Amino acid sequence: MKKKLKLKDFQKAQQTIIDYLRQDFLEIHGDDRPCICCGEKIKPIHPEMNHFPQTGMYENGIVDKISAGFGSQFDGDMFIIAICDKCIEKLKKENKIEYAGNYMHLY
Ligand SMILES: [Zn+2]
Repeated sequence: MKKKLKLKDFQKAQQTIIDYLRQDFLEIHGDDRPCICCGEKIKPIHPEMNHFPQTGMYENGIVDKISAGFGSQFDGDMFIIAICDKCIEKLKKENKIEYAGNYMHLY
């Protein structure tokens, strides 16, 4: 007879996968992320809470995931990028990046 899986078993397996991915990522990249423009290290505020780089909070910078769409040779691929606040200011002044609003003040 096949054993019925329980929710707690699913959640435990899910956490194991998250822990494995984080461990794998940390071994390669560490907690800090280099700014794509100047290379300055962007440090997480609570590294112990970062299950994935793009979900963490960072000091003086942004770390997020970008996804390539149809038309790109990287269609479907996802990447983690980091950019420091100083470079964001510089690129905004040079009109190389566009301000798209504030997700905390949408309404
Ligand atoms: Zn920078």
